Amino acid sequence: MRIAIIGAGIAGVTTAYECAAEGHQVTVFERCGSVGAEGSFANGGLTAPGLSLAWNPAAWPGLGGAAKLTWDWQRWPAGRDKRRGELQQRLLKLALFSSARQAELRRSLQLDYERADGTLVLLRSEQDLNAAQASLDLLVQDGLSAHVLTAEQCLRVEPGLNPAMRLHAGIHLSQGENGNCRQFAHLLRSAAQRMGVEFRFHTTVRHLVPGTPARLVHEYTPPPDSLSEPSRQSEARNLTESNEDTRPAPVGSKEDAFDAIIICTGADAAELLQTLKLKPALTRLHGFSITAPLRQLEAHPELGPKAAVLDQQRQISISRIGQRIRVAGGVAPGTASERAKKSTLAALHQTLDDWFPGAMQSTSVQRWQGAQALAADGLPLLGASGREGVWLNLAQGSATTLGWPLACGTARVLAEQVTGRSPSSELPDITGLDIGRCT
Ligand SMILES: Cc1cc2nc3c(=O)[nH]c(=O)nc-3n(C[C@H](O)[C@H](O)[C@H](O)COP(=O)(O)OP(=O)(O)OC[C@H]3O[C@@H](n4cnc5c(N)ncnc54)[C@H](O)[C@@H]3O)c2cc1C
Repeated sequence: MRIAIIGAGIAGVTTAYECAAEGHQVTVFERCGSVGAEGSFANGGLTAPGLSLAWNPAAWPGLGGAAKLTWDWQRWPAGRDKRRGELQQRLLKLALFSSARQAELRRSLQLDYERADGTLVLLRSEQDLNAAQASLDLLVQDGLSAHVLTAEQCLRVEPGLNPAMRLHAGIHLSQGENGNCRQFAHLLRSAAQRMGVEFRFHTTVRHLVPGTPARLVHEYTPPPDSLSEPSRQSEARNLTESNEDTRPAPVGSKEDAFDAIIICTGADAAELLQTLKLKPALTRLHGFSITAPLRQLEAHPELGPKAAVLDQQRQISISRIGQRIRVAGGVAPGTASERAKKSTLAALHQTLDDWFPGAMQSTSVQRWQGAQALAADGLPLLGASGREGVWLNLAQGSATTLGWPLACGTARVLAEQVTGRSPSSELPDITGLDIGRCT
């Protein structure tokens, strides 16, 4: 089959890889100049299945309806209607499958990216632990490894934690990892290219026409700093000369036909979906991260996190990315005002200073603002779009799941679904996670 993937974030790259691994001829359209350039660029990098339960959107300011419907640690057991519970469980199974698939790809393709195992959720109060308890039991029932630790035990898992901080307990999620999402995407892109996947960078898809075949209209989108004609041409020439399979599309609109098109456009999905007359309620969320080198002191070899911690009350993660530390959080809907940006960045620094004082070399901090989409019910949109030949892999970074932990598994399932074969029993069931529930 000829398959088009739109978007080369973690969802698009994993989907391209899995489709190529199934023997399909794959083309990826990406408006930026490389993979992992937007929402997957400098996210927290946490992938532990079940962690999303601790990711509490009710704490995000201004989220309104979406927050009320989401599956967070506090309200899951109480507000669990049957269908919703089933979908959540399906999602957990998908996350577990995805984690195993990611580990398998890492081993078989020898993907050497910055990573560490496990995540520790830090609970500041007894109330936080009580709220988590019932959901924890369900996690364990569903085959996830989640252990409640005392404050002392937390210090054994993360010896760099500030012992002076008030810590009531922790929850250690040993499955999954934290790591460099963008680096993983780059390595997988290379593996996909070796299987013949063609990447069209600086190419924006403007319009979709469903059918057999399905068609898409795309155009070359110059990078912001090379809008003049000569530089566009020279950039096109450089890319063509350097790497045939990453050449940009010719200038002007162009139409191509495919047997299947998979939309993986992250936070900006709404525009393309409208060309298909699909209008699922999607909220655009923004968030921030700061990344800086870890301070190396011989007298304090334990400085900084060994893997990742999540401050459950503040909804801020601190993770080790190779020899760097990344602090991420401040997720909120809409666009951040300068004031909100300043106060969020201050909160990220403060949280790091609380838990790992002095661990970051704050002279060379990289700041990042990213965006992701949240569906009204907090679940991802996966599978058939209801429009012939068009498939969705969207809103993974939703309130109930984080993006990267689902990526490898979803990609594998979609690569099979698009063929129209009856689903094989070893793949997780994603029935009900499609756009049908939103229309
Ligand atoms: C502050 C913050 C912290 C986070 N922490 C974590 C975490 O710890 N763990 C985790 O798993 N997730 C985390 N997330 C969420 C995670 O970043 C996202 O879920 C994930 O990266 C989304 O991947 P994606 O491929 O769907 O989207 P993206 O990475 O945004 O990729 C979409 C791509 O589509 C392209 N595109 C869009 N429209 C078009 C078009 N019309 N034509 C061509 N190309 C197009 C874009 O340029 C982009 O490259 C965090 C998010 C934020 C904001």
